[in-house]
Amino acid sequence: MIQLFVPLNFLGFIYREIREALTNIERLFGLLEAPAKVVDAADAQPLQLSGGDVAFKQVAHAYDPARPILDDVSFHIPAGHTLAIVGPSGAGKSTLARLLFRFYDVAAGSIEIDGQDVRNLTQDSLRQAIGVVPQDTVLFNASIGYNVAYGAPGASEEDIWRVLRLAQLEDFVRELPQQLETPVGERGLKLSGGEKQRIAIARVLLKDPPILILDEATSSLDSHAERRILDALNLVASKRTTLAIAHRLSTIVHAERILVLDHGRVVEQGTHAELLAHKGAYARLWADQQRAEQQGEQTDPRDA
Ligand code: ATP
Repeated sequence: MIQLFVPLNFLGFIYREIREALTNIERLFGLLEAPAKVVDAADAQPLQLSGGDVAFKQVAHAYDPARPILDDVSFHIPAGHTLAIVGPSGAGKSTLARLLFRFYDVAAGSIEIDGQDVRNLTQDSLRQAIGVVPQDTVLFNASIGYNVAYGAPGASEEDIWRVLRLAQLEDFVRELPQQLETPVGERGLKLSGGEKQRIAIARVLLKDPPILILDEATSSLDSHAERRILDALNLVASKRTTLAIAHRLSTIVHAERILVLDHGRVVEQGTHAELLAHKGAYARLWADQQRAEQQGEQTDPRDA
């Protein structure tokens, strides 16, 4: 009996150890992935949309109180217009997007949509109004149709084909034997980064939100693929209030307004031509990128 008890007891010990380790890993991932819980105010109201005007007013933010990330950031994106954000890596560009989505609350200042402080709104209504095209789109291990329709329940097959066409994916999907039913992801079709991003664009077109966050990730694509994605991004951004995080300055040369962020502060704002004439931070980023392009390197202003 004792002979059996010892190994069983040992197995029990191993089992408890493994369980504990798994729980710790879960906690670790929970901390990394899930943002601090933001809860609806007791009297939170649904967002009353009138175009989707976005204003950041003297916003400050720190993930850790000892390390300020954003300081006194103010800008205004009138309804239907686009603001491109550029700046070196770690400047705080993605943090602006996370705050607009209210993954976190600002430490100081306020963020308003159509004059309503996002802290007073129900999170459901806020997130319903904002579409995101991220840099790395994560797809569900499900069909193409499911991945496009996610976030727009009740979309018809016709609607899905319409947005696939706009995202320049229709021909590609029509040629697949299972078309919309084709599984994607780990156990299905492997899609390129650009194709995945165009699925995200199709998804946003179907959701049809008035406000859009674009995280442009075109630096690793060949120029033909890049052109198609930029066309699709321009289409999705037109007539929507858009916050575009740009990694390659060449993609925002024609942006109506560019905001340059450095160490969590707005250091310059203007059009491409105005910023070049100003001969400041933007002009330096531009010169660095031009030089790198002439040398045939992959360019990304975040590396500047
Ligand atoms: P990149 O161009 O490299 O994506 P970015 O300008 O978008 O950079 P952010 O992602 O906004 O920069 O990050 C700004 C700073 O905040 C960085 O120093 C980063 O390390 C820090 N940071 C970002 N997310 C967190 C987090 N969840 N917890 C703690 N610090 C964070």
